Amino acid sequence: MSQAKIIDGNAVAADLRAAVAARVAALKAAGGPTPGLAVVLVGADPASQVYVRNKNKRAVECGMTSFEHFLPPDTTEAELLSVVERLNLDPTVHGILVQLPLPKHIDSQLVIDSIDPAKDVDGFHPINVGRLVTGGPALVPCTPLGCVMLLKRELGSLSGKSAIVLGRSNIVGKPMAQLLLRESATVTIAHSRTHDLPGECRRADIVIAAVGQPEMVRGDWIKPGATVIDVGINRVPGAEPGKTKLVGDVNFAEAVQVAGAITPVPGGVGPMTIAVLLRNALEACCRQNDLPFEEVL
Ligand code: NDP
Repeated sequence: MSQAKIIDGNAVAADLRAAVAARVAALKAAGGPTPGLAVVLVGADPASQVYVRNKNKRAVECGMTSFEHFLPPDTTEAELLSVVERLNLDPTVHGILVQLPLPKHIDSQLVIDSIDPAKDVDGFHPINVGRLVTGGPALVPCTPLGCVMLLKRELGSLSGKSAIVLGRSNIVGKPMAQLLLRESATVTIAHSRTHDLPGECRRADIVIAAVGQPEMVRGDWIKPGATVIDVGINRVPGAEPGKTKLVGDVNFAEAVQVAGAITPVPGGVGPMTIAVLLRNALEACCRQNDLPFEEVL
């Protein structure tokens, strides 16, 4: 059996960012608005700060205006809600992202619900969730949309293909399944109560792994030639003492022998998430200004 094609998420993400930058430049050259993206982080977690700064850096590289709001860990729910309200009312801000998870004393859903759905670039607001399900114009969660972009680049049409989504979180699993359904795939959603997970997987042309369990999906779970998208990001002990490494939810070394195409970790789905965030900020800006928005990639 020949080895699977490795899907290069870094390359597709770079193409997507370049396409977004070109659209932003054209928008500005035509006298249109400059898309503005605001990212709000509560707390001093260094990894989250790096992540947020990276989002803002990428937004600026695409020609957007970026607004960083780093709030202290003891920020109250009311204070955070008032920051969101100000951003909702600010016409130069087209996209708002509140970095999750929030500290335990803040109700995340209440904060998500307070974001103007038109500016909800994470696609987590119930209005956008509902529109995704009912087929309206929705801002769609970044990671699953990035997965669909990778799949369509690889396979063309997904119509009629059997897909399994491992995981049913609001952030990845559920919107992933809805997006695959929107592409006319036949979708199975699996989770921790699913019987015979390996057997369910072996029936699928497309496997999306989003369980947060290091290397759980084994090579013999994969139908020969299937396309495997590994969303998982798990830090595990590395070969050298005291060192760690990142692995996905799929046992890559095994699956690459069986699959037709597979995303690596790192370098697969991960880079797509921020690129899609920028795409969503552009879409939000266009829609708020009654400008047409055509798919970027
Ligand atoms: P959650 O922990 O919110 O959800 C995990 C899901 O997997 C749940 O639905 C759970 O089932 C299911 N699950 C857990 N263990 C098993 C098991 N043994 N068998 C079958 N199903 C199982 O995780 P997220 O959805 O937020 O994230 C999933 C993974 O994706 C993580 O590794 C995360 O780090 C990564 N991630 C990557 C992103 C990226 O940019 N690449 C972005 C977001 C997440 P149940 O509902 O029954 O408990």
